[in-house]
Amino acid sequence: MKNLSKVLSGRIDFHTHSLLSDGELLPVEILRRAEVLNYEAIAITDHVDQSNLESVALKLVRFAEEMEKNSFKVRFYPGVELTHIPPETIPRMAVKAKKLGILVVVVHGETLVEPVKPNTNHVAVECGEVDILAHPGLISLEDCETAKNNNVYLELSARKGHCLANGHVAKNALKVGANLLVNTDLHSPEDFISQEFAFKVALASGLNEEQALNVVEKNPRRLLKKLG
Ligand SMILES: [Zn+2]
Ligand SMILES: [Zn+2]
Repeated sequence: MKNLSKVLSGRIDFHTHSLLSDGELLPVEILRRAEVLNYEAIAITDHVDQSNLESVALKLVRFAEEMEKNSFKVRFYPGVELTHIPPETIPRMAVKAKKLGILVVVVHGETLVEPVKPNTNHVAVECGEVDILAHPGLISLEDCETAKNNNVYLELSARKGHCLANGHVAKNALKVGANLLVNTDLHSPEDFISQEFAFKVALASGLNEEQALNVVEKNPRRLLKKLG
C-alpha cells in the first residue's frame, strides 16, 4: 500500500500492564511514553483476580481522575484484565470492575502458551460487560459469532507467544464478522509499537490491506465510542 503514513493515524492500545501488576512502568510513565509516540488513547489493564480487583481498580480510577487535571495529550482509560479466574466468576467480576469505575474490561483468553481454564473464551464472549477477549487462542467459530452479537472485541496480539494463534483468530473472526483489534499487551518500554507495525501484525494474521486498515483504524475508534 502506497502512502501508508497518510492513511494511518495515532495508535490506540487497549491492553497494557503497569507495575500495579507485572509491568515494569508506573502508569504515568506509560502515559508519557504513549504521548511522545503520538498515541491518541491508551488503556492500562492490569492483571486482576479475586485478590486484587478492588485495590487495582481504585488506584487506576483515582489515577485517571488526577491525570484529567493535567495536560497529557493522550486519553487514558482505566482497565483491568481478568486473568486465570474461574470462568464462572467472570460475569460478576466484570460487573464489579465496571461498578468500581473501570472503563475497559479485558479477559485473559485461552492463549496457547498458558494453562488458561477451558470455557474462559466462551463465558467471556457471552458476558455483556466484557469489552475485549485478549489472545483467545484456538477460539471456536461459535464463540466468534457470540462475540460479534455481544459486541465483544477479539484481539490479535503483538506479544510473543500469544501471537501464535493470530492467524486462526483472524480467520474465524472474519468468517462471522466479529470485530478485531491489534493490542500490544505491553509490559516494558520496548513493547510499544507504531501504528504501522500494528498494521503489519494485522496483515501477518492473514487480513488483506482493507481489512487490516479497518482493524487498526476503524475498530479502536468504534470501541472508544462504545466506552463513551
Ligand atoms: Zn493476557
Ligand atoms: Zn495482558
